[in-house]
Formats: sequence, structure tokens, C-alpha cells
Amino acid sequence: MSVLEERLAAVNAAIADAAREVGRDPGEITLEAATKTQTADTVRAAIQAGVAVCGENRVQELVQKLDAFAYDGAREVHFIGHLQTNKVRQVVGRVDLIESVDSLHLLQAVSDCAQRLGRVQDILLEVNIAGEASKSGFTPDGVFGGVEKAQELPGVRLRGIMCIPPAAQDVGGNRKFFRKTYQIYVDIISKMVDNREDLSCLSMGMSRDFADAVREGATLVRVGTGLFGPRG
Ligand SMILES: *Cc1c(COP(=O)(O)O)cnc(C)c1O
Repeated sequence: MSVLEERLAAVNAAIADAAREVGRDPGEITLEAATKTQTADTVRAAIQAGVAVCGENRVQELVQKLDAFAYDGAREVHFIGHLQTNKVRQVVGRVDLIESVDSLHLLQAVSDCAQRLGRVQDILLEVNIAGEASKSGFTPDGVFGGVEKAQELPGVRLRGIMCIPPAAQDVGGNRKFFRKTYQIYVDIISKMVDNREDLSCLSMGMSRDFADAVREGATLVRVGTGLFGPRG
């Protein structure tokens, strides 16, 4: 087995262990490879090894890898980075899911762009769960306004929410944020009148804390260094 295959097997095993620990079916959880800074060949190797979902952070890298057909064979490609309104056109319609819709302004821009293309873009709303000044995203209260607006906009289909808590300082340190995000997710689902069945994605957990995210209900975990090693 290659190093990448070994790491992938270890991450999948850790996801399954964490799921079973809390009585969840490991099949409910999808592993997404966070492929920022990785070459097209590394992405291809990851897909070959069994990675089904790739998440890209930067628009330029996404476009380069799409143009190089780096994601061929992947089931889905997601955008997971901060998206500026003036770059929406380069992303909408080219990815299966934009996980990082972090403002009403961006929400509107994504919908407008998708509508012009005659499409409906699947999205998640990003919640700034720890209230960090350095991060964008909806506040835990404000996200409900985003949900309402998303339901009114014809160019987007809301699939769930995502969060990026602080870089974990200690083991288990982010678990409270994952729990809080799960609660918001459940609240959103309970408040949805129509399209409730569209809500199926709770994206949270990265290399250092994905097991806790799974324990707290994540359906999608985004792992970079845990699969590819430290970024250069
Ligand atoms: C880079 C990145 C990840 C993965 O981070 P690792 O710590 O390398 O696992 C997950 N989510 C987002 C939004 C990222 O930018």
C-alpha cells in the first residue's frame, strides 16, 4: 500500500470507530479530501485510492484542477473556501456543492449566477460557531435568516450547514462547538416547512478533530493533512 492508501485506510477506520462508539452507522459519514496545495496528480492518486469527494479552497486552484481533469472519477467536487462575490461565476455550476456560503450577500450572488446559467446550485451555509473575529460566516442566530432567504431564492438549494471551529488546541477542545453546530442543524430541519428532505449535510471536522465531529453528528468530514501529510 502507498502512504496515501495507508492514511486513507486509517482515517476511514477512525471514522468508523467514532461512529460505532456513539451508535451511528459509519455509512452515514462521507470523507472529503481537502486538496488545497496538492497537485493534480496527488488528487488523481487519492481518487484512485478511493476518495469520493474532493474539497477545494481557492478558486484559482479549483479552476486549474478542473481544467486538468484532476477530479475525474470523483463522485463530487466541493468548494470549501471563502468565496468572493466577484469570483462566483468561476465556481457556480462547476462544483456539486458550495459549502462556504458565509453571508446573505454571497447567497444572493450565488443564486443570481446560478439562475443566469439556468441551474440550481447546491449550497451549505457556513456558521462561525466560535464567534471568531477572523472568520466569516453566519452567527449561530443569524444563520436562520440565511435559511429563510435560501428557501426564497430560486438559484440555490440548501443542503445543510458547515463550520470551521478554532484550530484545536487540546484533544476534545472543539467537541462543544460540534455539539452546538449539530443543535443548530437539527433546529433548522425542524423549522423547515418545505424541502426538509433536502437537508442532509452537516460538514464539520478536520484532521485533528474529525472523530469528535463524527461523535457529534457530522455527515461530512474534511481531511487534508491527515491524508496528504503536512502542507509544504
Ligand atoms: C484545509 C481545510 C481543511 C482540512 O484541514 P486539515 O487540518 O489539513 O485536515 C478542512 N476544511 C477547510 C475549509 C480547509 O480549508
